[in-house]
Amino acid sequence: MTLREQLKDKKRIVVKVGSSSLTHPETGHVDLIKLEKLVRELTDLHNRGKEVILVSSGAIAVGRKTIGMKERPTKLATKQACASIGQARLMMIYQKLFMEYNQIASQVLMTKNTLINGENRINARNTFETLLSMGAIPIVNENDTISTYEIQFGDNDTLSAIVTALVQADLLILLSDIDGLFTDDPNKNPDAEFIDYVEHVDHHFEQMGKGSASDVGTGGMSTKLKAAKLATSAGADMVIANGADMGVIHQIVDGEQIGTLFKENRTEDFYLIDYLDEPSV
Ligand code: GLU
Repeated sequence: MTLREQLKDKKRIVVKVGSSSLTHPETGHVDLIKLEKLVRELTDLHNRGKEVILVSSGAIAVGRKTIGMKERPTKLATKQACASIGQARLMMIYQKLFMEYNQIASQVLMTKNTLINGENRINARNTFETLLSMGAIPIVNENDTISTYEIQFGDNDTLSAIVTALVQADLLILLSDIDGLFTDDPNKNPDAEFIDYVEHVDHHFEQMGKGSASDVGTGGMSTKLKAAKLATSAGADMVIANGADMGVIHQIVDGEQIGTLFKENRTEDFYLIDYLDEPSV
């Protein structure tokens, strides 16, 4: 069986979608057709007997559109207020769509403190375990409304890898506005080559991280490589793929050659807290 085919046997899957995959690039408004398809894909994974966790961005992007703000907010209090409005809206849309497919969706909002404090960390893990055993699909985001620099993960690429490690998921699918990893930024360098498989995220690959051109999300390629390092060290495979078509989710789990696959590389002395030291933005 090839490594790609082995993805069919993954049991616990975390899917991360960025703000740019959930909104229309022309207007910044929510792309309902994409969201609908995302929910259908996740429901179908669940119906196949997989445990599914969604890490969804979009709180700030949706909040900002709700109040008609043109620019991306820079002031902390404004960002946090936008997140408060947008997160509630986003969850309302997710709840409505998941209910149509008779799925139980739940919300988990985290800050770094959820993990640094041992008791909180165990509690978070137990809550995820219980939710999954209840058949729920937890929808995770950073608690942007209250998190400040000291306690924020900063981007959902990192958060999704942390959740993957916390619940010991065996696959993380990171959906973005880029097809996967390239030798250079394909928007700037036409000779950039696509890399479909990474055996080990070493220094050489970390150097390849370049910012993606998105103006709605926060994660560029370097945060994705950091996430890959974390998730693979925790023992999960990871795939970065383009979320333009949410159908890639089942194609990846069916073992199709989509995006860049990072092979799990479990480190015996893996310790989640080691990855939390510095805020990433
Ligand atoms: N947590 C932020 C939000 O929901 C997004 C962070 C990110 O895009 O990585 O708006």
